[in-house]
Amino acid sequence: MKLAVIGSGYVGLVAGACFAEAGNNVICMDKDESKIKRLRDGIIPIYEPGLETMVERNVKNGKLTFSTDIKETVENSDIIFVAVGTPPDEDGSADLSYVLAVAKSIGQYMKKPKIVVNKSTVPVGTAQKVKEAIQKETDIDVEVVSNPEFLKEGAAIDDFMYPDRVVVGTSNPDVAETMKELYSAFVRTGNPILIMDEVSAELTKYASNSLLATKISFINEMANLCDRVGADVEKVRKGIGSDSRIGYSFIFPGVGYGGSCFPKDVKAIIRTANEYDFPLRVLTAVEDVNEDQKKVLIPKILKYYDNDISGKTFTIWGLSFKPKTDDMREASSRVIVQELHERGAKIQAHDPVAMDEARRLGLDKIITLHEDNYDALKGSDGLIVVTEWLEYREPDFEKIKSALNRPVVFDGRNVYNPQKMRDMGFDYFCIGRP
Ligand code: NAD
Repeated sequence: MKLAVIGSGYVGLVAGACFAEAGNNVICMDKDESKIKRLRDGIIPIYEPGLETMVERNVKNGKLTFSTDIKETVENSDIIFVAVGTPPDEDGSADLSYVLAVAKSIGQYMKKPKIVVNKSTVPVGTAQKVKEAIQKETDIDVEVVSNPEFLKEGAAIDDFMYPDRVVVGTSNPDVAETMKELYSAFVRTGNPILIMDEVSAELTKYASNSLLATKISFINEMANLCDRVGADVEKVRKGIGSDSRIGYSFIFPGVGYGGSCFPKDVKAIIRTANEYDFPLRVLTAVEDVNEDQKKVLIPKILKYYDNDISGKTFTIWGLSFKPKTDDMREASSRVIVQELHERGAKIQAHDPVAMDEARRLGLDKIITLHEDNYDALKGSDGLIVVTEWLEYREPDFEKIKSALNRPVVFDGRNVYNPQKMRDMGFDYFCIGRP
């Protein structure tokens, strides 16, 4: 099929590469000229395992091309995926200006009927809004499908190639058949393609992310309770996760969830519900808990240093919002850095892949970035583990101890064993473990 993906970020580029891998002809379009130039030069603008080789292979065999020209992109494709950002507006609702700007251009340049697919995460009613925005520009028929994306950064290629399910929102049976054919390459093991109406598909994405965020805030609240009653959240986690109705995933306590999806999607669904005069009480609490959780280590650090950390130096290991990505949107590290900085502390940091992103965000003005995670410890008054990258899990503890001014570790992801840390002579603080 002749496909276009408008918006070549984390979702658009992965979707475009995977569709090309399955044999389709794909144009990945973006309005960011420098991004497209880099892609044409063979440079992948984001860190995503496996993406580079897949892009390279499909560019070479002519299946994948890049463009900044929306007119040419619309004219040369039959199915157009919209994968632009939907960041939170000031009031928390999803900002649809990028999506609607793309819709307008599609309407202006289409010369024959098209299928337009919303891949961006968009609130209920957006498929209808996109259709209206297109039909305002043209009388030619357009079908607008809601096809939310569930990939995870860091495992995006696998998630796209082998999805648990594909959700397709359309009321048109012919369009449903076309979408099934397009996705058939990815569900050969029998995972379902769920055809539903547009509004249900749109809500499915928000409900899914909201439930995952709820699990995280729930276990974080339990961990904070463990801290007060003297229980060990690691034992509680195993105790509840072994119940097959609950399961082990998404119940790891830590310094809160971040990233480009959970925080904004929880805010947006709360906002949508408010518009229907139906406040979402559970999700409002989920968000509140998470805001506080990002700062949960700060009182522990302050207590250890008798409430004065001014002039002290701290080392942060991990800046990205989770391992295997360079994405720092809404990352807990940014809140922790700000809290330490405001109290007069100095910060040294390391991240395996997100340091360029930290520079791009201007964080290098208040953080000294180190290429080596042990160098980042030199002269520091404490290590704070913020992102559970694999390479931080089994570090050389002797090296850590000898580099630090004081052997103290604040573990924001509970990656180390408290007893072992104490045996090795560390003062060790984590979340919800005695
Ligand atoms: P991103 O910021 O990485 O990429 C968006 C791209 O769209 C940018 O490159 C931007 O330049 C481009 N763009 C904006 N306006 C444009 C226009 N008018 N024409 C062409 N290009 C334009 O965003 P992302 O993380 O890929 O997210 C995209 C959407 O997918 C969001 O709605 C997000 O919620 C959703 N989503 C993201 C993930 C994820 O893990 N990142 C997962 C599932 C769903």
